Amino acid sequence: MDISLVPDYYEPAIDDNGNYVDRLLGQWPTAGLKCACASRVDFCYSTKTRWTSHIKSQRHKSWVSNLNDNKANHYVELRKKDEVLQMQKGMLTERDIKIQQQSLIIVCLSNQLALNKCPLVGSDCPTADLLN
Ligand SMILES: [Zn+2]
Repeated sequence: MDISLVPDYYEPAIDDNGNYVDRLLGQWPTAGLKCACASRVDFCYSTKTRWTSHIKSQRHKSWVSNLNDNKANHYVELRKKDEVLQMQKGMLTERDIKIQQQSLIIVCLSNQLALNKCPLVGSDCPTADLLN
């Protein structure tokens, strides 16, 4: 079985003044590194030498500069995405409950069919409160 490694995405470090700066934290990742500056979409920098050359490019430098210029907006964006995340968690929970209820109904109907009973007549089907 092959184990495929996925490249990491580069995250600039933050200096003592709270500004984004180019600094690799830790060791060079085994599978390489991708950069979100989009100078080369989906390109993976496989060596530290190539990476060092990349971070000197004008496109990358202006990306870091743009990050620093929009720091306040990042917080607002984070809050918005957190709200979306909470809403999606609620939707997933509701969907899980609905799936559990429908699974119980399927089991009940299957049992009734196995007993050669018409599921639409009578009410032998046990019910359960799945929310509690
Ligand atoms: Zn870059």
